[in-house]
Amino acid sequence: MKVLVINAGSSSLKYQLMVPDTREVLAKGLCERIGIDGHLKHQPTDKDVFDADIDLPNHEAAIKEVLNLLTHNHYGVIADVSEIDAVGHRVVHGGEDFTQSVVIDEKVIKGIEDCIPLAPLHNPANITGIRACQDVMPNTPMVGVFDTAFHQTIPPKGYMYALPYRYYTENKVRRYGFHGTSHDYVSKRAAELCGRPIEELRLVSCHLGNGASTCAIQYGKSIDTSMGLTPTDGLPMGTRSGAIDPSITEYISRVRGYSPERVAGVLNKESGMLGLSGVSSDFRDLEKAAEEGNERAELAMDIFCYKVTKRIGSGAAAMGGIDGVIFTAGVGENAPTIREKIMEGLEFMGLYIDKEKNKTRDEAIVSTDDSPGIIFVIPTNEELMIALDTERLLKD
Ligand code: ADP
Repeated sequence: MKVLVINAGSSSLKYQLMVPDTREVLAKGLCERIGIDGHLKHQPTDKDVFDADIDLPNHEAAIKEVLNLLTHNHYGVIADVSEIDAVGHRVVHGGEDFTQSVVIDEKVIKGIEDCIPLAPLHNPANITGIRACQDVMPNTPMVGVFDTAFHQTIPPKGYMYALPYRYYTENKVRRYGFHGTSHDYVSKRAAELCGRPIEELRLVSCHLGNGASTCAIQYGKSIDTSMGLTPTDGLPMGTRSGAIDPSITEYISRVRGYSPERVAGVLNKESGMLGLSGVSSDFRDLEKAAEEGNERAELAMDIFCYKVTKRIGSGAAAMGGIDGVIFTAGVGENAPTIREKIMEGLEFMGLYIDKEKNKTRDEAIVSTDDSPGIIFVIPTNEELMIALDTERLLKD
């Protein structure tokens, strides 16, 4: 089966055409500046790359161009669009209605629409991507894979906020969590790597990218995660504050005269590593600045690592023990010094990092041979997970 994986943003669209069975990627690419002017980078495996400004007035036009390139006589990887058996769509918010991936029909689209208040930037773009594919490939089955679905196993004591209960029943205020497809993928992969059934493992997965979250995965199921109603909760991130005293928002708006929207903008776009360091949201820049003696860059990374360390501890407490820690995403996969710093002091929980093995950027076990707990580095692959779910649902 050939599956086209689509991740549609408000002005961008990432895609990958793959064979989930064999894990083979036939082509991948990115449309950017949709509705503004347009740019498309198409990377077919073992073929020339197409990388050019191209008119992309809307998402339908972008999908049409992608299909043109996939079937192109020079840049193409398939002879005809009919070779695409299914489309798998990444959808950010599935609320409480979607506890797993689903075959998309009108009822599902309505359900995704109902979650727009919870993800006003992301869900409309996801729906636009689905509608564009429906227009261009009306007979191809489609599946929706939700960032929130994996966390629907979190029990009420993990997802309820201590607010008036009616905010939950009337306004859907609760912890949902995100990065679920990534946490799901890396935990399954960790079990394969260490050759133990996932039903026996208590893992804390650390997805550390521009956005960052941890997830306590007990016997294959998410039981707690650091992101909340929105992705602003939990760890400090590139530009997001993470968890703070909630009264800071009211205080800042009073002493600075900011509107609620302005405060939200500060928490999401001006805080985190960028706000603390004043240098950058990117860990590569922070590491460089710290090496050159920039104390605020060093402080920003210290704070980040400290918060991740504490989250690993809280995950272990939630699960009554810990068998492994997983590092994934941009920082988790590529920054050995950050991993080392996070694991410093966790030896008391039986987690010993091997500094030599930890120099890797590839999939590996980086704990010492006699460490009771296993430390994994696992490059995430959300596209593969989406393709596998799409295949699984359409085969039945
Ligand atoms: P996103 O959340 O946008 O998907 P990624 O998972 O791609 O983000 O992570 C991007 C981040 O990964 C960058 O902002 C950067 O901080 C970090 N990163 C990437 N490569 C390195 C590296 N070699 N060393 C340290 N950090 C890195």
